[in-house]
Amino acid sequence: QAHLDAIEALNPRLNAFITVTGEQALESARAADAARGRGAAGLLAGAPIAIKDLFCTEGVRTTAASRILGDFVPPYESTVTSQLKRDGAVFLGKTNLDEFAMGSSNMTSAFGAVENPWKRHGDDTALVPGGSSGGSASAVAARLALAATGTDTGGSIRQPAAFCGIAGIKPTYGRCSRWGVVAFASSLDQAGPMARTVEDCAILLRSMAGFDPKDSTSVDRAVPDYAKACGRSLKGMRIGIPAEYHSAGMPAEIEAMWQQGTDWLRDAGCEIVNVSLPHTKYGLATYYIVAPAECSSNLARYDGVRFGERVEGSNLGELYELSRAAGFGAEVKRRIMIGTYVLSSGYYDAYYLRAQKVRSLILRDFTEAFGKVDALLTPTAPSAAFAQGEKMDDPVTMYLNDIFTVPASMAGIPGISVPAGLDSNGLPLGLQLLGRPFDEEGLFALGWALE
Ligand code: GLN
Repeated sequence: QAHLDAIEALNPRLNAFITVTGEQALESARAADAARGRGAAGLLAGAPIAIKDLFCTEGVRTTAASRILGDFVPPYESTVTSQLKRDGAVFLGKTNLDEFAMGSSNMTSAFGAVENPWKRHGDDTALVPGGSSGGSASAVAARLALAATGTDTGGSIRQPAAFCGIAGIKPTYGRCSRWGVVAFASSLDQAGPMARTVEDCAILLRSMAGFDPKDSTSVDRAVPDYAKACGRSLKGMRIGIPAEYHSAGMPAEIEAMWQQGTDWLRDAGCEIVNVSLPHTKYGLATYYIVAPAECSSNLARYDGVRFGERVEGSNLGELYELSRAAGFGAEVKRRIMIGTYVLSSGYYDAYYLRAQKVRSLILRDFTEAFGKVDALLTPTAPSAAFAQGEKMDDPVTMYLNDIFTVPASMAGIPGISVPAGLDSNGLPLGLQLLGRPFDEEGLFALGWALE
């Protein structure tokens, strides 16, 4: 009830929730109390959490922040959310996001922009929470929810976590089932938790992760008790500092915080090693070919016939065109067009195929680095939260904000963002740790020491 009251008070300003499921939340809270009374409380019994509106929730509207799914009520529950429910979590509602998770600012939602609860010192300008899981990040930072689910295709858990001063982990590709998560770019999409502490993320991931026969890319590996890694000794761990992440024009404060993080890990007994990931510079360019290509394929299902908004036309082709024109926002249309272009005959080899080859080189860089080090430390983003509307007139400037998060997505490796301090404006900055495939425990151990 306290969280629902906080939502009622603050959501009109923050716009972090698209749908609030108050009655259902109280009902499941009572069920959690009853389970506790019977001595049958699950791992998350009674924990009030928010769900990114990209996870299908049975009987609860799931919009992907798009008009084309504005009234879509799924008849089934995603695997991740059903596992959270199984463990007793209480769902407060569905959080806002960039339309179909495409964006880094939450400005592209058909349900309006989300505000970051943080402000610059002495300045009332509304700031973005980052994206695409900006509603989840804003809700957790403002104490509207204890934690939230997010999804990360190119940074959408890590960058908003950094902008809002919370922790968030993108697990290894295949660790959490994608079944029932509205697809953006299937070879990149991963679900993960966002919470105020690294340990809370560890507890949630244990519930969310695991093999699911309904997702052919989910991996059949035991799920460890991640929370046990928090507090573990870091003595002797080797941490790589990738030279290529010293990007030109990055604010000195972010460089300084990165150095500070390096010192903290050295003090905790880690050995710091300089490494090189030479193909980093191609990360953004290849991501913005692969992700739109897969999006153009995935979003072909929204044709006005099977889902969502339909605008009648005089024939079937016109019905598709009018429905999509009305149902999709500008960024989604841009991505569908880029994706269709790079997949079309004559361009496929030059763009899509070449991007897939460079993707292999990016993965090889990481594999070689992990021969020498146990994890990598970088900033999460090249800036702190920026003003709403900033960077909106030039999509490329917006895409540049993903420079540190997309390489790990391309390689499928896990990455965590940990709150690392405030800049001189009083805004949170995040540090990112990247690990070997399926070494989420290493990231929790390191992240716990950094926060
Ligand atoms: N900002 C990136 C994009 O716009 C990543 C989004 C995401 O991870 N879902 O594609």
